[in-house]
Parts: sequence; structure tokens; C-alpha cells
Amino acid sequence: MLRISADKIYQLLEAASAAQTVYIPADREDGEAEFKKYEPGMQLTNRLNTLRSAKDFFFPQTEDLVEFRMDGKNIEVNDIRKECEDFVIFGVRACDARSFTILDKVYLVDPVDSFYKNRRDHGTVVTMACSRPAETCFCQTFGIDPTAPEGDCSVWNADGYYYFKPNTDKGQKFIDSVSALLEEGDTAELDKSVEKTKEVMKKLPLANLTTENFGGEKLNEYFNSDKWAELSESCLGCGTCTFVCPTCQCYDIKDFNTGHGIKRYRCWDSCMYSDFTKMAHGNPRLTQLERFRQRFMHKLVYFPANNNGEFGCVGCGRCLSKCPISMNIVKVMKALEVK
Ligand code: SF4
Ligand code: SF4
Repeated sequence: MLRISADKIYQLLEAASAAQTVYIPADREDGEAEFKKYEPGMQLTNRLNTLRSAKDFFFPQTEDLVEFRMDGKNIEVNDIRKECEDFVIFGVRACDARSFTILDKVYLVDPVDSFYKNRRDHGTVVTMACSRPAETCFCQTFGIDPTAPEGDCSVWNADGYYYFKPNTDKGQKFIDSVSALLEEGDTAELDKSVEKTKEVMKKLPLANLTTENFGGEKLNEYFNSDKWAELSESCLGCGTCTFVCPTCQCYDIKDFNTGHGIKRYRCWDSCMYSDFTKMAHGNPRLTQLERFRQRFMHKLVYFPANNNGEFGCVGCGRCLSKCPISMNIVKVMKALEVK
């Protein structure tokens, strides 16, 4: 397999960034990690994953859609989208890489979201296999193997080397841009390291969590469960879980009066918010119980029912560590399970 000595990884990132913009997971001042544009001198984070997922690259928190300019009774409609250049996201974890497949099922089906597609077409996802999964990780529950991440190109860091395997044409283009630095090497030590990680994964606290009893078949039992009241009782409706989640995909569209016309933009929204479903006639979800139930029913029941069994969660564990009242999808699954 193609590989590079670990001490040359920044040379590789520099070579890659000469061809196209490269983003890497790097530390912030507050100790969290986030994807940042690679500049010489930057370091890859040692944290397992970024606070916010990589979905921002394809589905940003806010995005201008269209502009209306008014001149008397005339209205001019302008497409104000910015042309996107090719870019690489380096170091995406297996869970977040799978989240793109889930977002694709929402945004790339008819009618295709051309804003999302534009970014997807230009972005190359270079994934990084996990070797130190956290106790909050449960991607295996959703059939994800963190030691063999998907993406355009997969990378493993083991035994003093980074190993590279292209999976798509875009991944091959990334490899071509750095090929002068790569050498062929055997994978005996990498294979051992992967086996070790698989052993660690078997011992994770959530290793046995299963989706076996979820999906569309028990929609009514889950919807009418008496567990929702207790589960949602303390929910603050803060929306943190939806904002850190790589698969949450809801947005609102708003108009902003610029003084010369109207700019229409979209921004992330949260089903946990009280005005999320507010319409001209009123709001069909008046209580936090209904809003809370919607979030988890969508991920565990409605989404798989409409997408050939694919769940709307990738087990990244972000909601487990960030919810201020320590409520999360794992607690919901354990409390709710109808055998
Ligand atoms: S992060 Fe926790 S408290 Fe906030 S909306 Fe989500 S479940 Fe409720
Ligand atoms: S529901 Fe929680 S664990 Fe699942 S993908 Fe979203 S943030 Fe990650």
C-alpha cells in the first residue's frame, strides 16, 4: 500500500494544498478541534474528532440563496451563489464520512439541492481510520467500521506511517497530487494495529447496542410509547444535539431586507425549537415531548422506513458528550426498545 513516514505528513499536506485548498482537523484555543484551512506550520489535532462535524463543508450553517432587487415596480432576481473551487477535507472520521451518504439521500434525490450538490461535486473526502475509539463511540451499531473508513481516499496512521488507499477518481486525483512523496510499503504492522483497534472496539461500553428492534415496522408502538414523557421531561430545547449532529439536515429559509432589496438565505434549524413547525395556521407540535419525540422517531424509525433501512444516526457520540442534561440517542434507544 502507498505510505509516507509520519514525520513527512506536513510535507504531504503542503503538496496537496498547492493543488487545491485542504482543510484539516486542528485544535482551537478552547481545546476543542475544528476543521481549518491548512497553512504551513499548522498541526493536526490529537483529539479523536472535531466538535462540529464535517457536514458544514457541504451544508453550511448559513447560506445565501437568491437576491431580489427592486426598482419601482420591477423586481430583478439574481442567482448569488458563489462558484465553488475544488477542496479536500483531510482526516474525516468514518462516522462523519457515512453521514454524507445520509445527507446525499436527502439532498441529492429529486428535486436535487443544487447548492449542496455543487459543494459535494467539488469536495474530496479523505478519511482517517480510528485507532483510539472513545467510550461514547457506537458507529458499529450502524454497520460502520472505523478501521476501514469510506470516503474518496482512506488513510491509516500506524507504526510511524500514514497509509493511503484511493477509493474514487477524486481520491486518485488527491493521491496523484502527492504521489512524489509516497512509497510502496507492506501492511503487516498496519494489519496488526487494525486488529488491536478491533479488539478495543469489542470492549467499548456501547459495543452491544443494536438497531435490531428499530425501523419502520413498529412505528405506532414507538410513537405511542409512554416513555417519551420521562425521556423529554428535562429537555431544554436548546438544539445543541441537532447542531453538533452530522446527520441533522433541517433548515429554515428567511428573507433579509438589505435596504436595496431582499436577500433570501437559509440557516440550520432544529426540530427541538418551539417555532420549528410554526405555520400560518398554528403549530402542530406544541409540547417539548412532541418535538423531542420527532427528533428520535426521525432518526430511528421514519428515516430507515424511507431509506431501505438506513438509520439517521452514525454513532459519532457528539450528542452524548454535549447535551447539557446528558440526554441522548443511546438513552432513548435503551429506554424505548420494543422487543
Ligand atoms: S441537547 Fe439535550 S437539552 Fe438540548 S435540545 Fe438536545 S436533548 Fe434537549
Ligand atoms: S444522533 Fe448523536 S450520535 Fe447520532 S449522529 Fe447525531 S450527534 Fe452523532
